Amino acid sequence: MVIAIEELPGNLSPKQKINYNRVCDVECQKCGEVYYSQPYDDGDFLNLVKTTKET
Ligand SMILES: [Zn+2]
Repeated sequence: MVIAIEELPGNLSPKQKINYNRVCDVECQKCGEVYYSQPYDDGDFLNLVKTTKET
């Protein structure tokens, strides 16, 4: 689950805001491990979490 999302810089134009790819921190609901700075706006952070090996 997403626990934190990067805030957009305040000085962006509307178009820059659309194209800005924020990052987020994701916490695994199974083991509680936190994955920092995962891509948020391009929508594939779930894949990254799935393919991350847990120790
Ligand atoms: Zn986990």
